Amino acid sequence: MSVDVSEKLRVIAIDGPAGAGKSTVSRRVATHLGFQYVDTGAMYRVVGLVAHRTGVSFDDAAALGVLCDELDLRFEEHEDGLHTIANGSDLSRDIRSAAAGDLASRVSVVPIVRERLVALQRAMGEARPTVMEGRDIGTVVFPDAPLKVFLGASVGERARRRCADLDARGESADADEVARQIAERDQRDSSRAHSPLRPAVDALTVDTTDQSIEGVVEHILTLARQRGVG
Ligand code: C5P
Repeated sequence: MSVDVSEKLRVIAIDGPAGAGKSTVSRRVATHLGFQYVDTGAMYRVVGLVAHRTGVSFDDAAALGVLCDELDLRFEEHEDGLHTIANGSDLSRDIRSAAAGDLASRVSVVPIVRERLVALQRAMGEARPTVMEGRDIGTVVFPDAPLKVFLGASVGERARRRCADLDARGESADADEVARQIAERDQRDSSRAHSPLRPAVDALTVDTTDQSIEGVVEHILTLARQRGVG
């Protein structure tokens, strides 16, 4: 029996630690293929930031569950890129701060938050062909994704990229401190009990330390074509 590709799940899962190049690569792959791009890190950042701003304690699982249930979260494509709108406010810029990254990392260990956001991510990926980036897309959100890529890069290179990003936003950063924060976040993300950061057994690992963005994008597009996803 042959299966029509259009009936199959068309999700490309891109996982990896902060600064591995996931966002740039995922967005470009999605644009090339005409797929929707979903940044799941932005979702955890929104929940962390909204909880912090509305005074919801990260220890209060019930209140975090209500916050997730009531959250009206949308991604809108604008001329200057993808905007993240939460409960009517554009949080695109605010969620990119180092503080918001830290809030995201802390709130993402709460099981009810993961449960709610994973359900939302599944609904998004099932609705349309999607490139979805995160930490647990290939392992938990879409274990049946036809293509899973795990991007990595050295801590030094990831810190350098993060400093350049912060610099572009007008935020000054100390490279050693950024490297320390990245190592700490890696440790927290990979040692948590719920959905730790690790490559799926069938993921293809790509080290982006010495590779150009174009090279990585081309590599993924070739794999997508080979697997009938692209
Ligand atoms: O990718 P980004 O740096 O925006 O993610 C922020 C934080 O959100 C990560 O450090 C991680 O703790 C959490 N996260 C997660 N699962 C995902 C995406 C992000 O736990 N799928």
